[in-house]
Amino acid sequence: VGDPRVRRLAANENLARRINEVAECEEPRSAGSRAHFMCECCKADCVETVSIDPGSYARVRSHLRRFIVRKGHDNPEIESVVERYPGYDVVEKRGEAGRLAEADAMHA
Ligand SMILES: [Zn+2]
Repeated sequence: VGDPRVRRLAANENLARRINEVAECEEPRSAGSRAHFMCECCKADCVETVSIDPGSYARVRSHLRRFIVRKGHDNPEIESVVERYPGYDVVEKRGEAGRLAEADAMHA
């Protein structure tokens, strides 16, 4: 069901988010420090990182449809930039991509 292209793009982002969650668990960081997380954009081959303090990362993560991406890595086809910061943007998935992101977060 749904658009295979959107499903593939959403899957790439969901995978990056899972990797970041694992990294976050394995390396507890002190408050106020900045950490490098993988860019959570939809490009399967993106290996860029985003510098963000863990508290801000956790806040973004509390929204199941939101992801952190490098500047310019947002895909307007499936997501909208909802917050802009130096070095990264926060995007929120729309439509099917949003539903897939929520479903993935629940089952992770
Ligand atoms: Zn990226």
